[in-house]
Amino acid sequence: MDDFDYYAVLEIDRNATAEEIKRAFRKAAIKYHPDKNRNNPEAEAKFKQINEAYQVLSDENKRALYDRYGKAGLNAGAGGGADFGDMFNFADIFDSFFGGGRGQSSRRRQEALDIAVELQLSFMEAVFGCKKTLKYRYLKPCEACGGAGGKRKTCDYCGGRGQIYQRQGFMTFSQTCPKCEGAGAILETACKECKGKGAIAIDDSIELTIPEGVDSGQRLRAGGRGNMGKGKARGDLYVVLSVLDDPVFVRRENHVYVEAPVFFTLAALGGSIEVATLRGAKTLEIERGTRDKAQIVLRGEGIRSATGGRIGDMIVQVKLVYPKRLTEEQEALLTKLHESFGQESVAHKGFFDEIADRVKSWFN
Ligand SMILES: [Zn+2]
Ligand SMILES: [Zn+2]
Repeated sequence: MDDFDYYAVLEIDRNATAEEIKRAFRKAAIKYHPDKNRNNPEAEAKFKQINEAYQVLSDENKRALYDRYGKAGLNAGAGGGADFGDMFNFADIFDSFFGGGRGQSSRRRQEALDIAVELQLSFMEAVFGCKKTLKYRYLKPCEACGGAGGKRKTCDYCGGRGQIYQRQGFMTFSQTCPKCEGAGAILETACKECKGKGAIAIDDSIELTIPEGVDSGQRLRAGGRGNMGKGKARGDLYVVLSVLDDPVFVRRENHVYVEAPVFFTLAALGGSIEVATLRGAKTLEIERGTRDKAQIVLRGEGIRSATGGRIGDMIVQVKLVYPKRLTEEQEALLTKLHESFGQESVAHKGFFDEIADRVKSWFN
C-alpha cells in the first residue's frame, strides 16, 4: 500500500485521544463508505486507508509502535504481523460501529481473529526473564461445512430480514430478531464436525522468550498466531502477563522493597547485617541509633525494566525486633542499663509534665 500518514488520513493531530480517534474514524467512514460512493474508485481507496489507519491508531500497542518507528515498526513483530487490508478484520470494526444490521443481515457476525491468553510468571521469572512454552488454542474455519456451521434456512420468525417490526400508533419500531439474532438465517442441520459452530479449536503451543524486567499487564504479541479467518490469514496472539507476588520482595515499578529485621541492641549499638537482594546476599551497615522503619537505599540493585530506563534501586526497610521474653539475668542487665541513662531514660516524663502544666493553667 502506498505511503500515507495515519493521522493525516483521519484528519487528527498526533496527540488525539482514543475518543477523538473513534469520532474521526466514524465521520470519515460514513463519508467515504462504498454504499454512498458507488463506482468511485477514489472513495474506495480512501475508505481503505481510513480503515487501515483506524486499525493501528485504535490499538494502543500498534499506535505506540507506529509513533516510534512508522509503518516499518508495525511489520517488525514476530512472524510477519497482521495484514491490514484483511476484509475480515475490517468487517469486524464495522460491526462494532454500525451494529451489523443495515443491508448485510445475511452475513454472520465474524469472530475477531486476535486472541489474548494470560501467562502467569513467578516474581523472579519476571525480574530476570525466562523461556516459557505456552499452550493455547486457536480457531480454524471448519472445512466440512466451509465455516457455515451446517445447512441453513431462512429464519421463519423474521422472514430473513433479521429485524422484526412493531407498530405502535403512528410509529414503527424495529428490533433485532431474537430467533436468528439478526442473521436472517438459522441452522437447519448442524455440521457434525464442528457441531454447528463453524470453527474447530486447534491445540497449539509457542516458545516464548520473556525479556528481563516485565511486569503484570504487559502484553507480548506473536504475529500470525491468532485465529484463522476464512481466507486462511491468521490474527495475532497476545500474551498478557500476570506476575505473582513474592513472599519477600515487593515491586514498585523498577524498585524493590525488602524488610530487614534488626535486633534492638544492634540498632542501638550499630553494626552490620546480611540482607537478601535480588542478586544474592549483601552485607549492610546499620548506623548506631537506627530507627524502626528507617530505609536504606541500595542503588542499582532493583529491576532492569523491559521497557527501558535506568535500573531501579533496592530499598531495605529496617524492622526493629525486641526479645519476646527475658531471663532473670537479662532483665537485671537491662534494668541496670536503663537506670544508667538517668534523665534520658525518662524521656516521656519531661514531655508529660509540660502538657500537665498547660492543662492546669487552662482551668485556672
Ligand atoms: Zn462444520
Ligand atoms: Zn430471524
